[in-house]
This record gives sequence, C-alpha cells and structure tokens, in this order.
Amino acid sequence: MYKSHEVMVRKLKFATFLYQPEPAEGVDINFYRIKPESGTVGKPNPSMYTNIAVFGDNALAQKHPEWISISKDGPAFRRLTSPKVNGINPGNKKYNLRWDVLCMTNPEVREYNLKLIEDCARQTPGISISSQHFADHGFCVCPRCVELWRQSGLNWYDWRAKTVTEFLKEVRDRIGDKPLYVNMLPDPVLGRERFGYDFDALAEYADVFVIPMFSKAYPSPWYWEMLARAFKSKLKKPVFTNLYVRGPNDDPNQVPTADQLLTVAVRIARTGVDGIIFLAENAQRIRDFQKAAVNSTDILAELDGYGGDEVLTLVDRWRSLF
Ligand SMILES: [Zn+2]
Repeated sequence: MYKSHEVMVRKLKFATFLYQPEPAEGVDINFYRIKPESGTVGKPNPSMYTNIAVFGDNALAQKHPEWISISKDGPAFRRLTSPKVNGINPGNKKYNLRWDVLCMTNPEVREYNLKLIEDCARQTPGISISSQHFADHGFCVCPRCVELWRQSGLNWYDWRAKTVTEFLKEVRDRIGDKPLYVNMLPDPVLGRERFGYDFDALAEYADVFVIPMFSKAYPSPWYWEMLARAFKSKLKKPVFTNLYVRGPNDDPNQVPTADQLLTVAVRIARTGVDGIIFLAENAQRIRDFQKAAVNSTDILAELDGYGGDEVLTLVDRWRSLF
C-alpha cells in the first residue's frame, strides 16, 4: 500500500567524512577522520563516529622508516615525496601509493592502532577503519612477513587474506558491539590478490563495508555506478560508497561540481547500495555543497526518474537548512 514518498524512500543512509571534529547538519552519520593517512591524531568527538587509517601513516613512516612495508619493487613510500628518509629515496612509481604504508604484521604498529581504536570506541558511537590491509600486490616481503608466511603453511594469497581478516577480528574484539565500518579500496575483482581482502571472511566482523570512490571530477558516472553495483552484489553486509566533495587544501576550481556529485550519487543510489558518504575537509564545505545542491534545480529536474529518488529527497530535506 502506497503511503508516502517519504516513507518509501528513507532506506538509504547519508553521511559525511570530515577532517575536523565538527559534525555537519542534514545527514544521518558524521565520521570524523581522527587519524587520516597523514598520521596526525585528533581528539574524539562523542557526537561523531570515528575513522582511523591504520597502516597508511605518513607520520609514523617518517619517524620509523624501518617499519615501512616492502615489495620486490621497493618499499611502500608514496610517490614524489621528500626529503630522503634514512638515505632512501622516497617515491615508488611502480605502485599507485597514495600514502606511506607500514607493514601490517608489525606488532608495535598494530598495538598503537588497536589501542586508539579501542579508546575511540569507548568515547564515540561507532568506528570506521581504513587502510587495514596490505599495500598492494607484492607486499609485504619484509623478513617478518616472509617468516610468518612460511610458518603458516598456507599459500601466499591465503596467508595474506588470513592476516587481514585476523586483524579485523582483533579490531572487533577491542570494540565489542560498537558499529564497525570497514573501508575497502575499490577493486571488486582483484581485491584478494592485491590487498588481502576475503570479502566473505571480513563480513563476519564488519557491520558495513565502505567503498571510497574518490575523484576530483565525476564526468563519467557510468563507471562509478558499475563499481557500486559490483560491490553490492558481492558483499554480504551493507555497502556504503564515499564520494569526494572537497578535501583539505583543495583548489575550489579542481573539485567536482554539485551537478556531477548529484548525478553520480543518483546513479549509485539506484544500484541498491545502503549508504552514500560525502568527503569534505569540514562541516562548512558540506554546507557549501548542500547549498549548491539545493540550487541545482536544472540537474535535480533532469535526475527525476533515474531511480535514485532517495538522493533527491535528501536534497529536498536540505532546503530547510537555508
Ligand atoms: Zn612485512
């Protein structure tokens, strides 16, 4: 029985992913990036969920370059950074490393992050973790990882997947019943070989999977829609996607337009995903986007009928903010 548009469409959740501990209005959940991959650590905000990047940690990599993850094609130092670290030229152009990645079997790095995760779980309503996996295919062949692999008796890919799953289990043990959002890099086909993701095994410990779909522009929404549909079909827990609005230090002329964001959000919404997150430096940037979205009347009219009405209803709700 048809009751109302509003009742029918409030299944999809909306959230923000922010670098400052101030929540935005007009969304269901705000995530605060208390420890992004830069490695800086902020203070928990009890009104926001907490995101922690685990093994991607530029600050710790500068302090302890001996903890960096290793491949035959060089260490997991991100591309084009300076200065030299302990005489090693930073930058590994063989991989698309967006940040420095530490070895995920390093006990000190694990405990440092698990303790932070546990503290944040105690103080905030939920946990989101990023970068809790191997840097990419070929990582990590440091002496400790090779020895652990040998002792396991498993093949290389099974050992890596088991290592990633067991880390997630440790996170779950530390945070109890608190909601756990697990970010996974957007490769639905080779995630196991590249990062050590065993989707089904991870689903035992994750409450929600989050797929970052960050881009400075979304001119081809078809691709993002395809990725969202692929993950939704494969993952056994709810799936959120994360879209890029405006990150720290971005040139405002080099970020996606409201029209592009609304279009890609509608196209993703119709794949049946369970949530859409918007990344921004802070709540003000979200507010700027919300205002631009409300005023994007032409594209909102165009997007009517695509099957992503939940996004249009969200923008309707945002009108009350201004
Ligand atoms: Zn290692």
